[in-house]
Amino acid sequence: MRIKHDFHLHTHLSVCAKREVTAADYVANARRLGLKKLGFSDHFWDSAIEGANKFYQPQDYEHILQLKPELEQLRCDDIQFFFGCETEYDPFHHGVAITEAVAEQLDFLLVPNSHTHMMMPKDCYEPYRKHADFMLQALYEILNSPVSKYITAIAHPFEAVACPYPNGLLIDLITDDEFRLVLDVMAEKGVAFEINVSSMQKKTHDEIEKMSQIRLFRLAKEQGCRFLFGSDSHSAGSHDAYGNASFVADLLALTEDDLAPIARG
Ligand SMILES: [Zn+2]
Ligand SMILES: [Zn+2]
Repeated sequence: MRIKHDFHLHTHLSVCAKREVTAADYVANARRLGLKKLGFSDHFWDSAIEGANKFYQPQDYEHILQLKPELEQLRCDDIQFFFGCETEYDPFHHGVAITEAVAEQLDFLLVPNSHTHMMMPKDCYEPYRKHADFMLQALYEILNSPVSKYITAIAHPFEAVACPYPNGLLIDLITDDEFRLVLDVMAEKGVAFEINVSSMQKKTHDEIEKMSQIRLFRLAKEQGCRFLFGSDSHSAGSHDAYGNASFVADLLALTEDDLAPIARG
């Protein structure tokens, strides 16, 4: 199945993205790649929730709202835009760093359980099992939070960001049964599983098939999770390997019904 959506795009409003990358760049890429739906997901922490670190402090709602006029100006018939954000797991309140008031303003919402480089105490890096357990617990807390009904997808599930060792090792440590239990909750709550292709950018198809993530994707499908694809682009050039999204969709034999409702059509 050809994947014609990308619901994980960072613009210049994300402080870790390239200063010059705009929504217009992604529209140009989308035309080239045949994408019909673009979801903008700049990093976000709700200022009404205490605990934002230095990275998140400037990235509040007022800040990400600056994208709206940019999207208005770009309005086009061939590509649909969705205004959302990638918010954060909030370990301090065992929930998510967004209020219902803001969540209901968005077209879609991504929440990661794997920004462990920012949200996890450093002493959890080793033994590796502690790191894996942190992500499992984070996911349960995200799914049990009062805003769970607004969550469209879990961003890059269990793919620990900026991990000092290969993050696939953490996925390998979690058993099928442990994954099944939490994936069941995702399926039941209608929270989709993001297939984030940023980790596949420089890989061949053979190498992708051998990634630890593939076992997890297959389990997610078996448990009835829906999927959402994202490039996690932080610059205009990071879209170039987006064909990997369609490769993985075929590898998993996904059909339209397996996609999150927002991504269909
Ligand atoms: Zn992320
Ligand atoms: Zn991201």
